[in-house]
Formats: sequence, structure tokens, C-alpha cells
Amino acid sequence: MTAALHATTIATPRQVERLIQGVATREGAGVNLTRLLTRDLQRRLDPFLMLDAFASDAAEDYIAGFPDHPHRGFETITYMLEGRMRHRDSAGHEGLLEAGGVQWMTAGRGVIHSELPEQQEGRMEGFQLWLNLPGRDKMRDPWYRDIPAAEIPLVESPGVQVRVIAGERHGVAGAMQRDVTQPLYLDVQLAPGADFEQALPDTHNAFLYVYRGGVRFDSGCLVGSGRMAILANTPGSDGLRFTAAEEGARLILVAGQPLNEPIAQYGPFVMNTEGELLQAVRDFQAGTFA
Ligand code: MN
Repeated sequence: MTAALHATTIATPRQVERLIQGVATREGAGVNLTRLLTRDLQRRLDPFLMLDAFASDAAEDYIAGFPDHPHRGFETITYMLEGRMRHRDSAGHEGLLEAGGVQWMTAGRGVIHSELPEQQEGRMEGFQLWLNLPGRDKMRDPWYRDIPAAEIPLVESPGVQVRVIAGERHGVAGAMQRDVTQPLYLDVQLAPGADFEQALPDTHNAFLYVYRGGVRFDSGCLVGSGRMAILANTPGSDGLRFTAAEEGARLILVAGQPLNEPIAQYGPFVMNTEGELLQAVRDFQAGTFA
């Protein structure tokens, strides 16, 4: 009977390899957030370099924002669930990030930008994910796109609503694609007890973060609210499957093809070698950075 209740297209689903609690972190001019993808996980979760979650009703947690600071060598992807944040950068891009919207910024050879709250009170909640660039693209021109909520495809099935920020679900292309790392970035909303499946190549590194409710895997592993789960790269697996808890669930699911290149990081610069990092610092200090 169980098989009939769980009709599936995924034959060999991945299970949870490890649960991550995250680390309370203060960033920017004094923003309180939770760092979920920390530096010790960069190799395991290649091509992703960082994931921060921010969620607060208290202005003092976010109001200082992120005044002018540099980036080189990767992309920052900011997804707002609630609140408003204004972006300005040295390449001349400016945008207002609003609830349900995504900002996708390619730092490339360098930008100096600010990310500042455009609200004095109320809730601010969302995520910033760092996606690495392949070595050949690290010094490309900066690039920027604001993606308002209405431009993010929604894929619905009974009990399951999925916003496809990047990659593809059930043949629907997401708002963004990247050829080398093939990132998948889904925001998933599940009704109580709803089953969720997603096809995924076994070579992709994958993780999810539950921000409301919880989900349970076939193995019995429960991923509760505020937990990130790293998914095993089981050889021959064709995707993943889990079921929402009684209270339903909201989560982000992120996956990508690893670059398998050396990772050299100094703060907001992520290159392949120490020499390239030194050059980034020199360029920034010399004012020729951006
Ligand atoms: Mn930034």
C-alpha cells in the first residue's frame, strides 16, 4: 500500500549525509545573520562558497546593512522573502530588491557595491548564496540582474509549489541558467504531508535549508526548521524525495556541478591561487579594482 501512496519517478533517491545547524555571524556594518555554508564546507559543496540566512523582526539586526565593499571572482545571489534592500555598484548598476525577488550579481573582475535596507522597521528575511565562477570566468566583466517575483517561474502540483530561481523543474526553465555549474535553486512550499521529488544528476553537490516546518526522508531522517541538510552524492542516484511534516514545510533546495578547481579565498575575493588573491588586494588598494 505504501508504494501506491508514494508513486514515484525517482528510483534511487539520495538521503541525508549530514545536518548543519549554522553559526551566528555578524557581517557588514553589524547585521546579525546565520551562516549555514561555512568555509569548511566549500570543498564538499563546490561550486557554492557561502550561504547566509537572515530573518528578523528587529531593525537593530539588519538596519546597518552592508555599506560599500568589494567582491571578485564569483557571483552573489540574494533572495528576499520579506523586506526591501537597495543595491548600488561601481559598474553603474542599481536596483531595489523586494519581497519574492532575486538579485543575481556577477562580481567577475570586481565590483564595489552596497546592499542597504530600504526600511526602518518590520521584518527582513532572505538568503545570500555565493556561487563560484570557473577560473576562466573569474576576471570577466561584472554583470547584474534584478529578478522581480513575477519573473520567477512557479511550478505547481498537488500540495507542492516551487519557485524555480535557477535550473529546471519538470521541464520548466528557471529564471537563471549557468552552463558550467548548472545551478539548481528552488524555493519549495509543501502542504502538510505532501511528497516532493526532484530529479538531480548524481554528480551534483546538493543541500537544502528548511526555514518553516520540517521534512522527512525515506531513511526516517527529519530535517526541522532552521536546519540545513547536505545530501549524499550516492552513485547512480537520480534525484531526491522527501515528505513534509504535519505542519507543512518551506525550504530552499540548492545543487550544482562541482568545478573541482582550487579555491583561494581572502574575505570577499575568491580566486584559484594565492597569487591571484594578492593581485586582487593590490588592485583594490590601488583603486584600479572596479
Ligand atoms: Mn556584497
